[in-house]
Amino acid sequence: MNFETFALDKRIMVGVSRAGYQVPTPIQIQAIPPLLEGRDILGLAQTGTGKTAAFALPILQKLLALDVAKQGPVRVLVLAPTRELAVQIHENFVELGAETGMRCAAVFGGVNQNPQVKSLSRATIVTACPGRLLDLMNQKLVDLSKVDTLVLDEADRMLDMGFAPDIRRIVSRLPGKRQTMLFSATMPYEIRKLTREYLRDPVEVKAEVTDRKASISHAFYPVPGHLKAGLLEELLRSTDHETMLVFTRTKHRAKSLARKLEGKGWAATFLQGNMSQNRRQEAMVGLRTGKYTIMVATDIASRGIDCERISHVINFDMPDTTESYTHRIGRTGRAERTGEALSLVTREDDEQVRAIERKFGGKIERRTLEGFDYAAPGSVEPERDRDGDRSRQGRSFHGRSGTSRGMSQGQSRGRSRGGAESRAR
Ligand code: AMP
Repeated sequence: MNFETFALDKRIMVGVSRAGYQVPTPIQIQAIPPLLEGRDILGLAQTGTGKTAAFALPILQKLLALDVAKQGPVRVLVLAPTRELAVQIHENFVELGAETGMRCAAVFGGVNQNPQVKSLSRATIVTACPGRLLDLMNQKLVDLSKVDTLVLDEADRMLDMGFAPDIRRIVSRLPGKRQTMLFSATMPYEIRKLTREYLRDPVEVKAEVTDRKASISHAFYPVPGHLKAGLLEELLRSTDHETMLVFTRTKHRAKSLARKLEGKGWAATFLQGNMSQNRRQEAMVGLRTGKYTIMVATDIASRGIDCERISHVINFDMPDTTESYTHRIGRTGRAERTGEALSLVTREDDEQVRAIERKFGGKIERRTLEGFDYAAPGSVEPERDRDGDRSRQGRSFHGRSGTSRGMSQGQSRGRSRGGAESRAR
């Protein structure tokens, strides 16, 4: 089975190959054909299964086939529980739809609303967190009268976070004639109820997290924060690796760490969100061809990295959410190969460590590196980076003090944008 089977517009296929997707995932195989036929869908699927592309590709196809104006008003509304997920979905649309000219916007709280309002006025596809969207609707700053496609993503999580009333208010103001898709990792009674209310004769699809994760081994390396850089170097020296992908929390850290490694003789490069397409390309090609064996990246930049040579993913900084962890480690262990995910963990990361262990169903091995001086004074890592809005505390989300599944919400390190509108080419 390959993507050609879906007979998608060639502009969309360019996005698919740029994203590095070679074969569709199980959820894509199940969901794309009925969605292309205009059916409603109930997807039992978690993040990591490729569910975003499962709905994004048919949505792009539908918009192109309808030949709708590429300017607003909004035709597609995707509701997502967290700012992080909203940005991820938005970026997926931007990446896959790069050649389609569709305008996309992301709407979430915690930042000035004006840039978002501006981008909304031109967007065809909007990915939004319910709280901020409702605020904008109440201020009559968004026109949803033409929405004919609604996606409720991570619906169970939205309900957990108390968004049910907001969702109802939003949906009650959308046109009744529409295609609706609901994705949820679990199917509690409340979700079934929503399903009966919002979906018409839905096709049910179900997917487990792709089994490539099974070929990845995980290990945590506890270390005081100020010794991380030293430990990383020791790990590089002592680990037999092909290509390593190292994750940092912020763009600045990615660049400075790569430079530091380069200075010490490693074939290192970096990838971060605001690099020019040329520099990004140079880094990616360098990684694929073996010119570089270490790539330091931020979460946002890593999306779409598909390089079979990656034998190790190292979390220099732990991600904020288990979803980011899943995405990061998904960059290794590809194509039947085994991969290793090594994480440098400080005491600050305790909460994340527990959440990741819960998600992966068991204790993850702790390792110490023989011969490494864990008591050394070391150089102090900056607590706050120039480009990072890094606070460990879960910020309240749209006024709710929300944490979900033990993870802090409403954070977006080194990737926050006041209102993310994008249109590629
Ligand atoms: P999602 O479940 O949508 O969050 O996707 C999880 C990860 O899988 C994302 O990094 C996607 O870019 C990636 N992905 C989605 N579809 C495919 C595919 N067909 N082949 C390879 N990677 C994919």
